[in-house]
Order: sequence, then structure tokens, then C-alpha cells
Amino acid sequence: MSESNEKFRLLPSVDRVLQSAEVARLIDLYGVGPIKAHTRKLLSELRAQIAADRLLALRCDSEEALFDDFIKQLTLRAQAQSVSSLRPVLNLTGTVVHTNLGRAQLPAEAIAAIASIADQACNLEYDLQQGRRGDRDSHLEQLVCELTGAEAVTVVNNNAAAVLLALNSLAAQKSVLISRGELVEIGGSFRIPDVMRSAHARLVEVGTTNRTHLSDYANAIDKDTGLLLKVHTSNYAVQGFTATVAEAELAQLARQNELPSMADLGSGTLIDMTAYGLPPEPTVQSILESGIDLVTFSGDKLLGGPQAGIIAGKKSLVELIKRNPLKRALRVDKLTIAALEAVLRLYRDPDRLQKRLPLLRDLARPVAEIEMLAESLLPMARKLLGHIATIRVISTHSQIGSGALPLEVIPSVALELTPIAEKGQSDFALKELAQNLRSLSRPIVVRIHDGKLIMDLRCLQSEELLLDLLTELATRY
Ligand SMILES: *Cc1c(COP(=O)(O)O)cnc(C)c1O
Repeated sequence: MSESNEKFRLLPSVDRVLQSAEVARLIDLYGVGPIKAHTRKLLSELRAQIAADRLLALRCDSEEALFDDFIKQLTLRAQAQSVSSLRPVLNLTGTVVHTNLGRAQLPAEAIAAIASIADQACNLEYDLQQGRRGDRDSHLEQLVCELTGAEAVTVVNNNAAAVLLALNSLAAQKSVLISRGELVEIGGSFRIPDVMRSAHARLVEVGTTNRTHLSDYANAIDKDTGLLLKVHTSNYAVQGFTATVAEAELAQLARQNELPSMADLGSGTLIDMTAYGLPPEPTVQSILESGIDLVTFSGDKLLGGPQAGIIAGKKSLVELIKRNPLKRALRVDKLTIAALEAVLRLYRDPDRLQKRLPLLRDLARPVAEIEMLAESLLPMARKLLGHIATIRVISTHSQIGSGALPLEVIPSVALELTPIAEKGQSDFALKELAQNLRSLSRPIVVRIHDGKLIMDLRCLQSEELLLDLLTELATRY
């Protein structure tokens, strides 16, 4: 008998695996179907290895040793498959509203609101007073109107959808006037000219990249004009010899010509950011007060809530938007409405907002507090990672992110890690360290700058969690 034939005999049968005491526990956890499938797959891989006379991944000096290894491998595979692809990470990038990391973290009130309706029937589109079909916007409309001074409100999946829907409702087959300085592209391929095309609106650029005057808009108005649009230049700023038209002037020009006006605010905040030591950002209220008919803004940027796009303003225009069949395709679900309503409620009590809204807690966190956290972490971090990197505390700058207040940075404090590496290996060591951080049980995402790894501590809430993760990291080296 050849050597490989003997190895085939060492392999357990599917039945033996499934009936073993160790696997009973796995079946209990993950179900018999998946465990049977893993067993079959692993066996066929091992058979292929034996047939190809390749080194077996498992010990094959005895049937029992191989069986032990087999069970270990099976356990790992079953565990790996049960980990969600979408999972929490530690955002130490210093960008607070990080689109790739899920933007705003929800407050406890929003999570409770989601939980309270998630496993129940609810009056999403049911008018309890009248006992008939209702409107899902009704749960948010009054609250947004109260907070912003708008006459009417509708909510869709995100702000990109809000802009698309508003343009299509108000200006399909018509032209939309917009300043050349505001033809923005924001991340994820949202470009105003492309959105305009998708909405079947015709883009008419007015003014120049750096200067646009009211007369540029006025001269461009003709019988085809459907809307005057302003777009918040979220992720860049035009500096130097510049001129833009204020919302109030644009709104007045629109009214004189019996045209609607709209502002896409992007971030859209409801509070005076300067009151929290942050750079100024136009509020939704102030833009509506200036006379602009409609504003659109995101739910998960500066508002600090779930992903959503809010359209607020003049009732007749909002009614038009609600009647557009596209609204049906872009509407929000009950979980979003529950979370958004809870977040908006918090704005009724501005005094406690910073305590309750994670976004504001992080953005307005005092530098002194972050510095204390860094100094407290430093000795333990050095002890754990001293053989991997040299570590020091540095001053750095956080960003708000998601295009809000693009040029403004907020002072912060970070742990700076310089990997210890042989000559010529520092690039590799840096990449390896960052990769190891991303593969921890709670992945840590950091910023890399100038050959160093920067852990901005602004968004770190649990010192203990970070130390646990650094302990886990240390065991990898
Ligand atoms: C972020 C942004 C959008 C898109 O908002 P989402 O909520 O990401 O869809 C649109 N316009 C401006 C100006 C923005 O800043």
C-alpha cells in the first residue's frame, strides 16, 4: 500500500466528526447544516492535498492527532463565518464625521427608539386618530419645522437623494442657474453636474470660478429657467479675489422673477457651532430666514443622526416634491425615522445637547481632556509596545470631515508611533503595524503621516478598550 493511501485512511468520516462530543458544541452554536458543509469541504481539501502528495496542513502522524487538528480547524472556520462583515472599529483617524467609517454615532436615545419599534408593528404610515392611511413624513415634519422655521418637510434616503429629487421635481426639462464656483464634486462621485443630468435638469453656469455677481444670475434668467441654486462648497474653499452672492440677494432675485430658490447645504447644522468653540457654519434656520425657498441637508453629518436627506422649506414646493413618483423610490425606512426623530428631539434642549449627542461630544471635546487621556495612556502603551515602536504624545489637528468646514481644523492630541525597523525596512514595518491594527478583534483605524502612525485620541471614549487592544497587538510580535 502506498504512503498516500495510508494517509487517506487517517481521515475521519463525516459521521465520526458530526457525532463527536467536541462538534456537538459547534452544532449547538452554528447549526448542523453549516458544520456538515465545513466538514465536507475540509475533508475534500485534505483529500486533494494527499492526492497531490502535498504537505498536509494538519498533523498526520496518528489518527488521533489528525482528528484533534481537524476539530480545531473546523472550529476556526465556523467561528470565522459567524463574524459579521460589518462590525465596530475604533476611529482614531482624527476625522470625526468619517464617511468610510459610518459618519455620526447615534445617541442612546436614537438606539432606544430604533429598538422600541424594530420588532413590533408601528404606525409608520397610519393615522391613529383617523384610523386610515397616514404619511411617514408626519413623524418628523413638525419637529423639523419647529427647529428650523420651515413650513414643510420631507425626508429621503440621503442628501444626494434630496438634491436629485428636488431638482427633478422643480426643474425637470428646465434650466438651473448655479455659480461656476459651486460646481462641486464631493466624495463618492456626487458631482453637481452629473446629479443635474440624472434629474433631467439643464445646468447653466453663471459667473466665474472665483467671482460671481447677482447680475450674472439676473442676465442668465430666461423663459427656460426653473430654479436658482446655491451649493455649499463643502470640501474646498475659493480664496483670494472672490465674490459670491449672498442667499438673501439670490432669494430676492428669484422672487422678483417668480422662480424658486434652493440651497444644498451639505452638512447643515441646527446650532451655532461657534458656541462650542468650533468654526462657523451656516445654520438651516439662517438660510431659510434669508428667504431661500428650500434647503437640503444630511442627517448624518453635523446633525449627528442616521443617514438621511432632509428637504425643508416652502410648503407648495415640498408638496410638489412629495408628489414626485421618485419620492417613493428614495423614501426612508421606519428605523431611520425612529432614530432621526429621537435625535431631533435632543435639539429641543440645547443645554444638554453636548452631553447627549456623540458627534457634538467629540467635536467639542476640550484639548486638555484629550491631552490628559494621552498622558495617561503613554506609560502603558510604551510598556506594551516598546519592542514594536517608539511612542510619544504629540499635538495634532482633527478634522470635522464629510466636507463640513473644509479648511478648518480643530486642535487635538495623539499618540505617535514610529515602528522600530532595520535600515531600509521602515516602510514595510509601518504598513505591517497599520495592518496589524486593522486586524485586531476591534480593528483600529489610524492616520499615517510622514513615516509615522498617528492615533488621534479625540474620538476615543474607553481608555481600557484601547489598552486591551494594544495588549492583543503586542502578542502578534
Ligand atoms: C455631503 C454632501 C452631499 C451629499 O450628502 P449625502 O448625505 O452624503 O448623500 C450633497 N451636497 C453637499 C454640498 C454635501 O456636502
